[in-house]
Amino acid sequence: MNDLRIYIHIPFCKSKCNYCDFNSFAGMDHMFRPYFKSLITEIALYSNELRGRRIDSIYFGGGTPSHVDVQYIYQVLKCFTFDENTEITIEVNPGVVGYHNFVQYRQMGINRISFGIQSFNDRILMYMGRIHNSLTAINNIHECKEAGFDNISADMIFGYPKQTLEQYEDSLNVLKSLEIPHVSCYSLSIEPGTLLDEMVKKNVMPMPDEDLDRAMYNLSIESLKKANLQQYEISNFAVPGYESRHNIGYWNRDEYLGFGLSAHSLYNETRYSNTEDLHQYISLLNKYEKPVVHTDTLTKEEIITEYIILKLRMNSGLDIAHFQDKFDLNFEEKYGDKLKTLVNTGLLYKQSDSYKLTRSGMDVANKVFVEFV
Ligand code: SF4
Repeated sequence: MNDLRIYIHIPFCKSKCNYCDFNSFAGMDHMFRPYFKSLITEIALYSNELRGRRIDSIYFGGGTPSHVDVQYIYQVLKCFTFDENTEITIEVNPGVVGYHNFVQYRQMGINRISFGIQSFNDRILMYMGRIHNSLTAINNIHECKEAGFDNISADMIFGYPKQTLEQYEDSLNVLKSLEIPHVSCYSLSIEPGTLLDEMVKKNVMPMPDEDLDRAMYNLSIESLKKANLQQYEISNFAVPGYESRHNIGYWNRDEYLGFGLSAHSLYNETRYSNTEDLHQYISLLNKYEKPVVHTDTLTKEEIITEYIILKLRMNSGLDIAHFQDKFDLNFEEKYGDKLKTLVNTGLLYKQSDSYKLTRSGMDVANKVFVEFV
């Protein structure tokens, strides 16, 4: 049987950022204990699925996993059997983590830290409603290294209202000077219902400029390449050997089990979603019922569509021989006309036996993907 991946959602944060629409709560620290009790019950309910499967990666995401006491993380990690090659990541946020956390994370087997940095410009961080400033972030990264971590990732946001190209470039330069081997750069999307959405609607903040957003994206690719951070997916860059195995697993459609509030799973070609309601999550698990509220068994066509979209996200692209092996179908015959159009319009190219997004294709990736839906 293939290896399995595990995602664990920790939905608590110290405060809510202005642009955030994730399922995360601030001011709910009193719910830590019941939440983790439920989480451990949920994992126990999946003992059949976990039995005999090697776990290749475990990912604590959020929310802010570093906002909860390290002991809670340890209690969850103890539920799984993993080996020294398992990639174990925890997301941390500057200002909500310190040297002692990093030491304890290492002691319990965590070997990869993913920082929510977003920017090294204090004004932009303030506009974002982040609780940290650039100095805190830099200090935390140094502490993380002092504690012995070398597999470190940083998330950055570009295209934020009032953010200039120069400010973004400065942030990338600070990041590069810190010699972090993995970076994710995300274009801001203004989500309905967020404080930022309200601010833009009330003209307190301007709408982000689309051309500037694309210029920042291209700058990310060029600037990070100079520090040997090679793009391996639309939004992800790594020094070779430091790519996120967990995320590559998602893009390869590896099976994974997600635990916690609003977590998703892909198991046996079925997608499962947990409830997004914290109280429902806890009350279902108090009754030893799985908190799954949506189940979608994928048809062959849906699996093919997912496969194409996820493979094209990666710079390695879609290998037509692998497609043939997997689906017993000829990719070029099935999508001949669409492929021709996408290649002719400069959005896709063929290299050896793989189709890949061009740089322009990455700019409008969703437009390309929709062709295969
Ligand atoms: S720290 Fe992350 S999850 Fe928490 S509110 Fe900010 S953006 Fe959202």
